[in-house]
Amino acid sequence: MAMITADIIVIGAGIAGASVASILSKSKEVIILEMEDQPGYHTTGRSAALFTVNYGSDAVQALTKASKNFFMQPPNGFSQVPLLTERGIIHLARVDQLKQLEIFEKSNSTLKRLSQDDLVVLIPYLNTDHIIAGLSEPDASDIDVAALHQGYLKQAAHNGAKLFCNQEVKSLRYENKMWFLESGKESYQAPIVVNAAGAWADEIAMLAGIKPVGLQALKRTAAVVKFDKPINPDMCFLNDIDENWYCKPEGSNLFLSPEDEIPSPACDAWADDMDVAMAIDQIANILNIEPIKVEASWAGLRVFSPDRDFVIGYDSAENGFFWLAGQGGYGIQTAPAVASIASSLILGENISIELKKIGVSVSIFSPARFSKSAYPHLQV
Ligand SMILES: Cc1cc2nc3c(=O)[nH]c(=O)nc-3n(C[C@H](O)[C@H](O)[C@H](O)COP(=O)(O)OP(=O)(O)OC[C@H]3O[C@@H](n4cnc5c(N)ncnc54)[C@H](O)[C@@H]3O)c2cc1C
Repeated sequence: MAMITADIIVIGAGIAGASVASILSKSKEVIILEMEDQPGYHTTGRSAALFTVNYGSDAVQALTKASKNFFMQPPNGFSQVPLLTERGIIHLARVDQLKQLEIFEKSNSTLKRLSQDDLVVLIPYLNTDHIIAGLSEPDASDIDVAALHQGYLKQAAHNGAKLFCNQEVKSLRYENKMWFLESGKESYQAPIVVNAAGAWADEIAMLAGIKPVGLQALKRTAAVVKFDKPINPDMCFLNDIDENWYCKPEGSNLFLSPEDEIPSPACDAWADDMDVAMAIDQIANILNIEPIKVEASWAGLRVFSPDRDFVIGYDSAENGFFWLAGQGGYGIQTAPAVASIASSLILGENISIELKKIGVSVSIFSPARFSKSAYPHLQV
């Protein structure tokens, strides 16, 4: 086995690894190692593909806002199709959920209150025995995730980055300021390793002899279902205000989810029929429609740090091990800003002025916040 060398090795070719590699490769030799036979097989390929600035912590919202410009005006040749398409969200409430709707309404001045009369115009077949009010979020969009992911991979390749699939990193060793990685098929070395391994990021750290940060993968189920009545393809994304279900059109069918968060080990997640059935039942009731056929169902792992903010930063100044993990349910919509911050930190450059404007200190994302004393149960 020959040793393959680079300046930086990125582990994982999901949206996190692909986006950061696309920037790092402008000035460095970059290798991306992916254990599957195609990039995007895990969480990146299983998302709801939504862009909404009203979702997640303050830091996540700031990162989403800071990413919008990239989505609207990607670099020349990045994508043949628009990365965002108008969708809009309507958050829905029953009478017993009105308090929750009010709290959410107060959190953002761009949300517009909708009466039941407004809702029946916007949502065909709405069951008015249940839903009495809503909030409209017109700015939310669909993301073309495949175009975004491919755009990043294409850019990285154009800059000379090399993507190796079917290369599961099985060991990492640090010696004389150099990381040595083994996949069982090939050997790799570089002074810097970027851990963008999604649900496996803590496992990668442990292989490297580094303390895990305490990531938790939470399974989320999704399905595409055919109903007895055709769905208007232009209908908004509908979201239960208590996050018990969401749905949006997928052609004349519905893409839907029970918005579940089931703790899971890192694995190739799959949908439980009962979870799919629960979502179908709730949505059929709200929209007065009957399911005909589950066209497809799947599940993906949303991966959270203990405080639910992202983990972006060197593990320590000395060892060249960089964390890019814990993007939860927001890793697609925040990818441009996160990749920009991560690459600046990796290269020791100033964070761009544009990102500084969002007013988020990068210390919020530092892996150092998960110190031994804060999480004593976490040991290598
Ligand atoms: C149902 C669902 C809906 C979602 N909806 C949205 C949404 O609307 N908007 C949004 O922004 N986000 C959404 N998300 C979240 C988003 O999909 C994730 O935050 C994002 O995809 C995480 O990307 P990643 O690159 O970190 O992880 P992944 O895509 O999982 O990539 C990690 C990669 O690392 C590889 N890997 C792991 N271990 C090794 C190893 N030892 N060697 C080599 N390679 C390895 C894996 O094979 C994988 O390809 C959703 C997620 C789910 C599940």
